[in-house]
This record gives sequence, structure tokens and C-alpha cells, in this order.
Amino acid sequence: MRLLAVTVAALLSMPAHAQATPEALAQQLQAAARAGNAAAYRGLLGGSGTFVTESANFAADLGRVAQPSVTYTLSDVKADAAQATARLTLTWQRVAGQTSRASFPVRLERRGEVWRYAGEDLRVLPAAPYALYALNDGTLPERAAALAPLLGQAATRVREVLAVEVPPAATVKVYPDMATLSASVNLTLQPVGGWNEPGEAIKLILSGAGAVEADTLRLLSHEFTHLSVSAAVQEGAGRRVPWWLHEGLADDVSRAYWTPQAVSARQERIRDYAASDWVPLAELADFPAVPENRWRYVYAQGLGMVEFLSARSVGAPLALARAFADTGDADRAARAVGFASFSALETQARTWLAAR
Ligand SMILES: [Zn+2]
Repeated sequence: MRLLAVTVAALLSMPAHAQATPEALAQQLQAAARAGNAAAYRGLLGGSGTFVTESANFAADLGRVAQPSVTYTLSDVKADAAQATARLTLTWQRVAGQTSRASFPVRLERRGEVWRYAGEDLRVLPAAPYALYALNDGTLPERAAALAPLLGQAATRVREVLAVEVPPAATVKVYPDMATLSASVNLTLQPVGGWNEPGEAIKLILSGAGAVEADTLRLLSHEFTHLSVSAAVQEGAGRRVPWWLHEGLADDVSRAYWTPQAVSARQERIRDYAASDWVPLAELADFPAVPENRWRYVYAQGLGMVEFLSARSVGAPLALARAFADTGDADRAARAVGFASFSALETQARTWLAAR
């Protein structure tokens, strides 16, 4: 009994002493991530704005997939009484046997006696009415400042195609590369060039190579579509749009900025999948449940479905998204846009796409 009491006392007092320095905070983050302890990880977080949702989702991912080999290393720590900046280097095994690595500037904040992780160190850039941030690393903020006028252009494209508005409070965070972007989302995400989830910032990369303006408009209009569709159908807990439909809508808007080769490669893929390699859409609806080797089906079949629906009626794809959110049921959603069942919709779309 006495032993139990001592143990409980030790557990209760541990958090108050465990993060007395920035380095100790990094050790606690590492321990929670290694154990897959989402609650412990959340208890180490501070910050504000969209980081609150982003970091809660990062922790939830650790709860699903522990990272037993992850390392958290802080360097270049500059601290005053209330806050600190540092460079955080993460190494982990996203794929067994392969070490992933990301290194980026971060902010820490002191609350009472303990330090908390406040997320990436970002610099705010002028882009009213939108909130544009760049990772405060090297020349990235100077280069990302040039993206500000493109936000309005991408929003116009979304409005023209879908007749929905990009929420003026949209937050955009710019990263230097895919590895850093994905590490800010969670440790299981494969490297991606753009990202958005309800309540989170739009994240995109500025690679510095190639056709920067077209690449950025492609990423921005795609991610703005996710944000606008989510807002238009009031997506949230219990109100979800299937992942394949989200990506189909986003690629339908963004393809104005694709290369001609990318457009024709996608059309060919859609036709091939419709003809002989179709994955049931029900298996492509829930992002965390879709294995990486099926992502290409999500994008191809999703765009194909949007093309099929648009050919019948311009507003049908968004109407289907809204019906999914309203009903939470595929058959009822399909009936709302004029089909007998979801299976009837899927079969007719597949036949139409294969015959094009
Ligand atoms: Zn997307």
C-alpha cells in the first residue's frame, strides 16, 4: 500500500519536474512518442492558432502508431524566461529499416515551471485577408513572400469551378520540402507537397526549383478546395466527405495548372482503372484506413467520379459531398443526386469512364 502511494505520488509530481528545461521537454516528447502515449504527448503541448488542432492530430497519430525508434534532438537553443527557439531534429522509421529525418526551427514556451512545445517557428508574411506563414528557416520567408498574390488567384479558381468561397481566415504555412512538411503533420505520413485537414492550416512546399508559380497555384488551388468544401458542407466530427471525393474535387479545380503530360497520364489511368483495376470506392473513403499503395486509386477514381457527375450536372459533385456530410450514408447520398443506390452510381460511372 505504501509502495502504491509512493508510486502514485511520483507519477503525479513527474510532469511538474520533467520539463524544467527545453532539453528535458525534448526527452519527454520522445518518451511519449516512443510509447505511443497520445495523452502524455498532448500534455507537453502549448502553442496557439491552427497548431492546437494540428498537434492534437499529431498526438492522435502516435496513439495509433507508436514510434519506438524516434529521436528528438534540440540544438541551437535560445531561451529567455518565457520562450525559446531551437532547432528540432527528428529521426524515426516510417518504413521499417529506413530512417526518416527532418530538421526544422521550433518554438517552445514556458508555462509556470515547465516548458511546452509550441510548434514550428514560423514568420508571418503580409497576405490579407489570408494568414500566410513561412517556416523561419534560411531564405524561405523572403521567397515565400512572393506567394501572397497567388492566394487570391487560387481562391478565384475555386470560386469559378465550384461556386464556393475560400474562408477568408484561411491559414497557409509554407515549408521548404516534403520531408519537413510531413513531419509537421505526423510521423506516419509519406512525404507530400500539400496538406489540409479540417481545422488545420493549409501546408505546402516551396521547392525553389522548376515552375514555382504554376506549382504553387496547383498546390494552393488543390488545398483551398479541401478547405472550401469542408467549410461549405460544415465538415467535422460525424460529418465527413469521403476521401476519394475530396481529392476528386480538389484535382478537378487544380488541374488548370497541371502540365499537359500530367493531364493525359491521369486520363489514361482513370480509363485503365475503370476498365479493369477498379478499387471499390467504399475502400477509399477513410484516409487513415487506405494503404499508401492505393493512394493513386483515390486520386484517379476520385477525379473520374467528379468528371462523371459533372457531365450530368455541374453542381452534382459538390451536392454529393454535401449529401455525404448530411446523411453519413452512401446510399442516401447517392439518392440525393438522382441514383437508385451508391452501387448504381459507382457502376454507371465506371461504365462511362471505361467507354470514354
Ligand atoms: Zn488533397
